[in-house]
Amino acid sequence: MLLSWPLQEQRRFFEEELCLPLALEPETGKLFPVSNKSRDVRDRLRDMAERDGAELRFDSYVTGLEAEPRPVGSAGAAAHPDQPAWRVRLQGGAEIRAAQVVIATGGLSVPATGSDGTGLDLVRRLGHTIHDTYPALTPLTAEPHRYAALAGVSLPVTMEAPGAKRKLVTSGGFLFTHKGYSGPAVLNLSHLAVLSRRAGGEPQKIYVRWTTSDAEQWDRILLQGEGTLLGLLRPHLPARLAETLLEMAGIDGRTQRSRLRREERRRLVETLTKHALPWTGDEGYKRAEVTGGGVALNEIDPRTMESRLCPGLFLCGEILDAFGPIGGYNFAWAWATGRAAGLGAASLPGS
Ligand SMILES: Cc1cc2nc3c(=O)[nH]c(=O)nc-3n(C[C@H](O)[C@H](O)[C@H](O)COP(=O)(O)OP(=O)(O)OC[C@H]3O[C@@H](n4cnc5c(N)ncnc54)[C@H](O)[C@@H]3O)c2cc1C
Repeated sequence: MLLSWPLQEQRRFFEEELCLPLALEPETGKLFPVSNKSRDVRDRLRDMAERDGAELRFDSYVTGLEAEPRPVGSAGAAAHPDQPAWRVRLQGGAEIRAAQVVIATGGLSVPATGSDGTGLDLVRRLGHTIHDTYPALTPLTAEPHRYAALAGVSLPVTMEAPGAKRKLVTSGGFLFTHKGYSGPAVLNLSHLAVLSRRAGGEPQKIYVRWTTSDAEQWDRILLQGEGTLLGLLRPHLPARLAETLLEMAGIDGRTQRSRLRREERRRLVETLTKHALPWTGDEGYKRAEVTGGGVALNEIDPRTMESRLCPGLFLCGEILDAFGPIGGYNFAWAWATGRAAGLGAASLPGS
């Protein structure tokens, strides 16, 4: 589905059709509007829709969606006999009749943005399978928070979440927060933590390697380096974290490297390269950037995004059972499936 709108085409659309110049952020390879304002994206899209004749209704909350068989002899029935007419009910009692409906109501993340799950309920009532939903890309919490004093400290790390079949390894920013941990590396594996809590079994194990050096390299540093242990750690880590990790390993940072015992060295290397992150919970949908689970993909035609169960109904974006890591993949999914759904709906009679 993602390949239906390749990245180059997406870029051309934004720059040439929307007239929104983009700038590449060299460190991440991400594209942003040169103005750096998200409202510019929204405004240009809205302008384009209005220019092309779309009627936009704001503050309209959909509460119901029903399919009705078309009356025999209606225009649409002749061209597409199985296609029902749709009745969209709005809060306040108003109704909209439509030949095709595209549902793009998102998931359950950050309900304050309006994504409260109504869309999922509407689709469930129409007979679609909804795979259990859960918060993904959400910060983790720790209670008690052994690292509360480090809130605000950030650094690049590598994290590992072992699984029965395979392990998930993420690299990127890590942020100590007042409640626990955030940053791309944490968010990208947070769904495994969330799912393990839901399953009620053993909590997902999460290990952190705090620097780019692996166990062998740290072994060498701690066998050959000069000076105190804190002095050896400092060039590789933020000061407060270096002190805390030494404390966690039960080692006085003022100890001269040459006086480090073998067992202490082993403990310190493990703390630096395979530190079991103490987490106990997550910040849920309130802070989740996406929702895992959703409408079963096998019930959707991937070329047009039309429901295989309800002709004339199209679904796109986060309401579907798919999400990706941090890095623009979720926007790309929403745009590519949204475009395919729009084209699919427009290709049917009555649109
Ligand atoms: C804080 C945050 C940061 C993010 N950062 C990134 C990022 O950097 N890169 C990335 O790729 N993704 C990011 N995402 C994820 C990305 O924003 C979503 O995956 C994407 O917007 C989903 O698009 P969508 O159109 O499916 O749903 P949404 O963007 O959630 O839009 C759904 C819309 O439907 C409306 N709606 C819902 N129910 C109803 C109803 N019953 N009646 C009427 N309207 C309704 C909602 O108000 C909302 O406007 C982020 C998300 C959050 C919350």
